[in-house]
Amino acid sequence: MADHAPRYVYAFGGGLADGDAGLTDLLGVKGASLAEMTRLGLPVPPGFTLTTEAWRAWFAAGERLPDAVAAEARAALAQLEERTGLRLGDPDRPLLVSVRSGAAVAMPGMMDTVLNLGLDAHSVAGLAARLGDARGAWDSYRRFLQMYSDVVLGMNPDLLDQLLERMLTGEGVADDGALSPDALERLTSIFTQKILEAGAAVPTTPEEQLFRCIDAVFRSWNNRRALGYRNHHGIDHQLGTAATVQAMVFGNLGANSATGVATTRNPNSGAPHLYGEWAPNAQGEDVVSGVRSPLPLNRHMAALDDEETLELALPEAYARLVEICEVLEASFLDVQELEFTIEDGEVWMLQTRSAKRSPEADVRVGVDMVAEGLIDRAEAIRRVRPHTIDKLMHPRLDPAVTPKIIARGLGASPGAAAGRIIFNPRAAAAAHGRGERVILVRPETGPDDIGGMLKAQGILTMRGGMTSHAAVVARGLSKPGVVGCRELLIDEAAGTVRAGSLLLERGDVITIDGASGAVMVGEVATIPPDTGPALKTLMSWVDGFRRLQVRTNADNARDCKIALAYGAEGVGLCRTEHTFLSEARIVAVREMMLARDEPGRRRALARLLPMQRGDLAAIFEVMGGRPVTVRLLDPPLHEFLPYEEADVRAVADSAGVPYAEAAARFDAMREVNPMLGHRGCRLGVTYPEIYETQVRALTEAACEVSRRGVEVRPEILIPLVFDPRELALVRELVTSTADAVIAEQGLPIDYRVGTMIELPRACLMADQIAPYADFFSIGTNDLTQTTFGISRDDCGRFLPLYHEMGILPADPFVTIDPAVGELVALATEKGRAVNAELKVGICGEQGGEARTIAQCHRMGLDYVSCSPYRVPVARLAAAQAALEHDA
Ligand code: ADP
Ligand code: MG
Ligand code: MG
Repeated sequence: MADHAPRYVYAFGGGLADGDAGLTDLLGVKGASLAEMTRLGLPVPPGFTLTTEAWRAWFAAGERLPDAVAAEARAALAQLEERTGLRLGDPDRPLLVSVRSGAAVAMPGMMDTVLNLGLDAHSVAGLAARLGDARGAWDSYRRFLQMYSDVVLGMNPDLLDQLLERMLTGEGVADDGALSPDALERLTSIFTQKILEAGAAVPTTPEEQLFRCIDAVFRSWNNRRALGYRNHHGIDHQLGTAATVQAMVFGNLGANSATGVATTRNPNSGAPHLYGEWAPNAQGEDVVSGVRSPLPLNRHMAALDDEETLELALPEAYARLVEICEVLEASFLDVQELEFTIEDGEVWMLQTRSAKRSPEADVRVGVDMVAEGLIDRAEAIRRVRPHTIDKLMHPRLDPAVTPKIIARGLGASPGAAAGRIIFNPRAAAAAHGRGERVILVRPETGPDDIGGMLKAQGILTMRGGMTSHAAVVARGLSKPGVVGCRELLIDEAAGTVRAGSLLLERGDVITIDGASGAVMVGEVATIPPDTGPALKTLMSWVDGFRRLQVRTNADNARDCKIALAYGAEGVGLCRTEHTFLSEARIVAVREMMLARDEPGRRRALARLLPMQRGDLAAIFEVMGGRPVTVRLLDPPLHEFLPYEEADVRAVADSAGVPYAEAAARFDAMREVNPMLGHRGCRLGVTYPEIYETQVRALTEAACEVSRRGVEVRPEILIPLVFDPRELALVRELVTSTADAVIAEQGLPIDYRVGTMIELPRACLMADQIAPYADFFSIGTNDLTQTTFGISRDDCGRFLPLYHEMGILPADPFVTIDPAVGELVALATEKGRAVNAELKVGICGEQGGEARTIAQCHRMGLDYVSCSPYRVPVARLAAAQAALEHDA
């Protein structure tokens, strides 16, 4: 291929690379990384990659390789044989290859790979001579038969596994590494026999085997697991996979050989040391699948002093690996997760990709890499997924309690979680559907368990190491995970799990701590996480990049304090009704509702006024000179109605009204559609004394705090407006009341009056509404409900199905919907057209969600407002939006 540009097939390794890391779309992450490592001068076994375009051609041709592609593959094979001096199927010096799947998006373990291709009963002897290792040669052959029968012939892998087990028992050895060459040879004929019995056959020529394997690897793009995975992650099914054919290197040639997986930094803590596992005298699959119990790579990972680390067992190879990792990081500028094999002391690289990592590690690595001069601050910010920060805000075990630990495994994915024991992934998903919290407890997990893992609070396995499927998936999902908990004995049939003398049953509550690996009985108290120095550093950089302000939705001083600690710059939404809901106060609210006339309502409201004033004063005090948006009463009075007889009596007694009359009056107030009912500014229009009292309380509170020398910036928010005249009327009420209080108190308070924009009509009339508003606060929750004509309270019955069926790509209450987004943009434009000074922000649930924030940035909004715990995410997302949009 030296004389023409490659089209469907790209060579790599042995100093020759057609591609590079930029070609992941074409070569897949694996193929591109092999090409790039070749360019970096790293030791890569030579081979070639059939591109994703080859896959598409294969797929279009009815799942067969078009002649042009096959011809290119044959040429690449011939060239590989020339480069290695070996030949596929040569009885004396056989070339062995792996055929590996690998797409542009990482789909770990979802597709298939075949190793040791190129052997038959004759060439095994040649391989034995070539390697100087008869056992290794027969071992490779029996491995090939197992994988080929499974992946290409589609036989049940248990069939051959059982035969292997029987052989181990018969020979009286513990694992396959201890089988004699002779036993392995017998095993291969038993395997061959079994395959024939199953009515299948392994093609006699290795070239035929190779093309059957390429077909199988290409087919695995559409296996059930892969389809499910892509559906879940929203990955395009048309992308296809590449297939990489690569000369084998042998980790199974005795004590001087090994295989392993490593991460260039600790993927849990982010600490800058090599991290991973290895197995001596083994091939790649063994470590990942958990067939062999892997050993720790180095002293950082060894729990016990006498554990056999690679660092001690093969120090030169280990040193070479460390050196390679430095080259990788310096080139990829990110933490790498890699697979290597050591053949007779020599290190070979089999793949590398950006590492999955815990949220802690994600942040720490970014900050460390800035300090190390590998990346700059903007890049560190760009890289952290908003999701990561979110997870860091999640609970951990309360250090004040000493939990009773019943077992300990490996802490594979940090975070603490409690839930009921459940063994079956399907049952886990079902329990989640019923609103139960569960911990999925399994011997180990596999790709088919994803459904249950997604729905569990946490994952606990008995087998497997830090790089086992369960560990990797838990980290990826940022779910607490404890793996390799060998002290636990699961009896799935009996529905029990035993820890020493303790017997737990399905449904019992346990807590797991994915940081320490501890397993505890019952629900152990958790605390919000303290967010570590790396996060503080990162967050201190973030504010220098963003343009959107981040405020918080907080109804009391305590939430305001939390939000401030997380960097909130004001309150975007304070819901005054929360003042009304406590036990002591609700009676006064209900008396107000019961009053027959305005004087009666005013009497009840007079009792509420000091409470409202006190609550608001506390908030103003905490927030200092930052803006605080206070929304006047919004929910329908319906929400405050008493239901219990005792509650009705309490109000009746307090108001001096007969019980029967009170009950009848309350009944008459019940609404059929409260969310579309008598609420929002409609309350202010019909009962002006309610808003008047609230504004008085608010202005008095502002004066009180201001008198103490604290600056206050109240913003009074009028909800659910649909018409400019409505707003004009209520605004007049608000300003005359506030101004009267200011005159009484003789203190200048700089307040603003704005409106919620949360109805389509208000969006369409925003230019007529804006003259009466100093600011718009866009209520995307109600706006979503009224735009869709659905209620947040009931949509759980059909929205998930709509998502599954692809009718709606995302939950519009989580990420702002495009149509709702257009209404927001329209309202903003129309509003600013008549009032250039108009401040616009959003305060719905979506205000803390990254994609929504990016959209708000693009639309030129002034701020987003979200719940206190989401403030850091919002700050990060706002900075990322600025970096991306304004670049
Ligand atoms: P997966 O994507 O499931 O990890 P891989 O294609 O990476 O599948 O292969 C599975 C295992 O086989 C890996 O551990 C890899 O290191 C090993 N392997 C693949 N190709 C070779 C090879 N040419 N020589 C030695 N080991 C290999
Ligand atoms: Mg791999
Ligand atoms: Mg609303």
